Amino acid sequence: MRIVETARELSDLSHSKKQGGLKVALVPTMGALHEGHRSLIHVAQQHADFVIVSIFVNRLQFNNEEDFETYPVTLDDDIAICRSSGVSALYMPSSKSMYPDSFGTSVEVSGLTARFEGASRPGHFSGVTTVVTKLLTASAPDIAVFGQKDFQQFAVLRKLVDDLDIPVEMVMAPTIREEDGLALSSRNVRLNKDSRRRAVSISQGLFHSLTLFQSGVRDTQELNEAARKSCADEIAIDYVQIVDAQTLENVSEAHVGDVLLFAGTIDGIRLIDNIIFTA
Ligand code: AMP
Repeated sequence: MRIVETARELSDLSHSKKQGGLKVALVPTMGALHEGHRSLIHVAQQHADFVIVSIFVNRLQFNNEEDFETYPVTLDDDIAICRSSGVSALYMPSSKSMYPDSFGTSVEVSGLTARFEGASRPGHFSGVTTVVTKLLTASAPDIAVFGQKDFQQFAVLRKLVDDLDIPVEMVMAPTIREEDGLALSSRNVRLNKDSRRRAVSISQGLFHSLTLFQSGVRDTQELNEAARKSCADEIAIDYVQIVDAQTLENVSEAHVGDVLLFAGTIDGIRLIDNIIFTA
């Protein structure tokens, strides 16, 4: 597995592989890799010959200094996971190489970023779209793989590559969960025992709403409320909302393919999750 640290090296490596006829995939991450990331790598390997994983804790997308400072960093484990998963190359740029002192560009997607995570975390999405633009430009992948776990992020990034004519196929990989249903997240390690036990009520609420949908309920207020009510009292809910998967606009009647988005905070730790309505 090649480890590269500059955009130039990454670009040279990717172009040489593409010239050699290989299909290149990029899996962007912030490290602290878990089974969710591993499954993204696996999906990338199904679509491409040469899989690049990037690990960069992107300060620009943290609207909260403490969240950035306490974000888990497990580089040695991450490298071992990438090696054992058959990753072809790992891109681990330093902060200085990603954002030198002279850096002064910001990439913004409007519309889709106005609500939900965009409203609750000012500046978050411009941090995401700026770094992902840099990663896509440097690695010029044929495909890029992201998790459904961050559903709004995927919708925003799909719009970004569409609007900027970035020639990459965007692939969304399913959310990987703990056995009890909690969506895997690098931030879960911060949950204490009690919070961890209560956090499971988030996915229980989402699945409860899905079951109601599958039994014929279409009224979104009722479906939103069902998910909200299942949530443990200790969870401060930010939003529980069924939206259209493309526009992220509210719908009054739920359809197959709509998404129930959730965000809430427990013990100061923000957790997000979502579920796509299926028949
Ligand atoms: P992160 O390192 O948390 O920024 O996430 C990097 C990528 O992994 C993003 O595309 C996330 O959506 C994805 N991801 C995070 N958690 C999960 C999960 N539980 N299942 C699937 N993908 C995930």
